[in-house]
Amino acid sequence: MTSPDLDRYVRQMRYAPIGEEGQRRMAAGRVLLCGCGALGSVLANTLARAGVGHLRLVDRDFLELNNLQRQVLYDEDDVAAGLPKAIAAANRLRRINSQIEIEPIVADVDHANIGRLTDEIDVILDGTDNFETRFLLNDVSLSRRIPWVFGGCIGAEGQTMTIVPGETACLRCLIPEAPAPGTTETCDTAGILGPIINVIASIQACEAIKLLAGRREAISRSLQVFELWDNHVRQVNLEPLRAAAASCPACSGAEYPWLAGERGSHSAVLCGRNAVQLSFPGHEPVDLDALRRKLSMVGTVTSNRYLLRLAVEKYLFTIFPDGRAIIGGTDDLAEAKSAYARYVGN
Ligand SMILES: [Zn+2]
Repeated sequence: MTSPDLDRYVRQMRYAPIGEEGQRRMAAGRVLLCGCGALGSVLANTLARAGVGHLRLVDRDFLELNNLQRQVLYDEDDVAAGLPKAIAAANRLRRINSQIEIEPIVADVDHANIGRLTDEIDVILDGTDNFETRFLLNDVSLSRRIPWVFGGCIGAEGQTMTIVPGETACLRCLIPEAPAPGTTETCDTAGILGPIINVIASIQACEAIKLLAGRREAISRSLQVFELWDNHVRQVNLEPLRAAAASCPACSGAEYPWLAGERGSHSAVLCGRNAVQLSFPGHEPVDLDALRRKLSMVGTVTSNRYLLRLAVEKYLFTIFPDGRAIIGGTDDLAEAKSAYARYVGN
């Protein structure tokens, strides 16, 4: 007989490699999920149902109607409520599994907060949409020796890779330099199909379950690539890269420039959004009520306790209490900065 709090996982425990011991380990497991968009929706849903004891969800964004095509945790009510994704995700996950701890954090993951975000974390999961954050995750993973699982999708293609520090190749073994801004395809240019998200995130979730259940020997040691439209599947063996890890500045040089804040910007064009994010590390907290009064002269303002929105000209500003802003209506950084300076001020 198992204890009553494990009854709901009985089918999972019956799977021999997990068993009751693996389930108990998962219940004690703590995951940092960076990004609660498309991949993050599937990851959070799967791991909450599987009984991972603590999910720390970090996302910088709020919901829009065009997210619902692939971000399966959310519905039209969440969009209408104008909620940040991390909050909407936590609300939903608590209804799915009230026995686990859900810790939503509305923030942009950067070098200043990644140390705090990874405190007491066993596995880091990549639900982001950009290489800048992934290289930061790779740095913090290697420096703190926390495994992480990379995932990325574009069009009908997706890739995933599991990184265990000291044991497997890392992201920089595979991609020595981050792609320059503007040189990679985005969801804006290439589009994205829902099914590839489910494939990649499901593999990531299973890798996390193996790690959390104490079955590290079962993890994938390949870069797995799936193309669902033309029906291609590839497994790229990473062992030769691992053998060459002596030349990797992260694996053997312990150089972590993204973690040190020497690489990476504080502004970003958001994938698939015709929007720009501006952030101001160390910014004084913004009084949203005072800002609401000021901006109501300028355009249409709505707000809740998590954010304020201003529609003016062709722009939709979304402003968070830490001063961070997402400016919709442009994908030009300079134009967004100038619009922010004009209406909000910095
Ligand atoms: Zn490496």
